[in-house]
Amino acid sequence: MSAGGFPEIPLFDLRLEPQDLEAVAQTLRSGWLTLGPRTQEFEETFAAHLGVRHAVAVSSCTAALHLAYLAAGVGPGDEVIVPAFTFAATAAAVLYAGGTPVFADIRGLEDPSIDPQDVARRITPRTKAVACVHFAGYAAPVQELQALCCEHGLALIEDVAHAPSATAGGRKLGSFGLAGAFSFFSNKILSVGEGGLLSTDDDAVAEQARALRSHAMTSGTWARHTGATTTYDVTGLGFNYRLDEPRAALLSSRFRRLEDDIARRRVLTRRYRELLGAVEGVTLPYRDEDVDTSSCYVLPIMVAPEVQGPLRIALREKHGVQTSLFYPSVHEFTAYRERFAGVSLPRTELASRCEVTIPLFPHLTEEQQDHVVRSIDQELRALRAGVSR
Ligand SMILES: *Cc1c(COP(=O)(O)O)cnc(C)c1O
Repeated sequence: MSAGGFPEIPLFDLRLEPQDLEAVAQTLRSGWLTLGPRTQEFEETFAAHLGVRHAVAVSSCTAALHLAYLAAGVGPGDEVIVPAFTFAATAAAVLYAGGTPVFADIRGLEDPSIDPQDVARRITPRTKAVACVHFAGYAAPVQELQALCCEHGLALIEDVAHAPSATAGGRKLGSFGLAGAFSFFSNKILSVGEGGLLSTDDDAVAEQARALRSHAMTSGTWARHTGATTTYDVTGLGFNYRLDEPRAALLSSRFRRLEDDIARRRVLTRRYRELLGAVEGVTLPYRDEDVDTSSCYVLPIMVAPEVQGPLRIALREKHGVQTSLFYPSVHEFTAYRERFAGVSLPRTELASRCEVTIPLFPHLTEEQQDHVVRSIDQELRALRAGVSR
């Protein structure tokens, strides 16, 4: 599809290489399709990469979050402080565990991470855990949150869906909390369609997650297939949160290009920041130096609330540029508004009215970038002059 003579520029685009397809084909030919040697190989690779003791591959980041909250001991009557400037799963998984999400505000438009001071204000005797999201691939104030959690005896859970291989103080994100939850969903950095992973340094957390992802059985079919055991017990209320072998193989294959993909995302992000810095009416979250340690998952820009909607429509209809909104505030969604009436998070709500996510993926070209920035500049000028739409 094209608009105004330009090819449509998608928000994300995924390219698989021949070796990725071959890794999957080999797995299919092997005749073993779920939890097995390829899953274990990927887990070992990913744990070493993060510098943590354990990586437990699961079916989604949402599943990893659910297992992380359970590992933190979250149950009925317990509260978990979560950001509302995130995807709904960060909060929904608290509800799966029987707990209550308590929403905390972000620091502001220039740093849309959860605000440790607001978190501190929301701690009650019922608080069990705090979740942070490394938004867009940039580290949340994870050291401050770690200190706060330590002081109050709370578990820190990291939602690392956006931030594989990103760091804070030289340490990989997903290695700070009791557990980290990664996503391999189709539009994420290390995408394989569906998939997730729980990272942890805690042996008991890993053991529990490994059991619960497969019905809390004491042994899996692979152990029985290889003759390690002949029977199993069920020791708790487990789930089917397994990852299958073709996806594990695809993960291992794609993982080899992760650092190169992120390096390319950083180059594009720096170039976007330079070009957009000259565009009147655009605020860029985070600082230039933050790009060096970010995974640069998406490129968020902030514009005036009154132009957010018309800008997005004009970019799509007149310039063939796809955008998104990361994120509508979770507490403003129908289901959450009804359940958690009266929540007010002024900075989160403002960010949800200002944010526009623009195209970013490793093979985005400079010409496409120039087109995106020129289109934004042109439309913002038109909107200021009041002649657009
Ligand atoms: C995508 C995403 C999730 C959910 O990931 P799934 O793998 O689709 O379950 C959770 N949190 C954040 C911040 C996300 O972006």
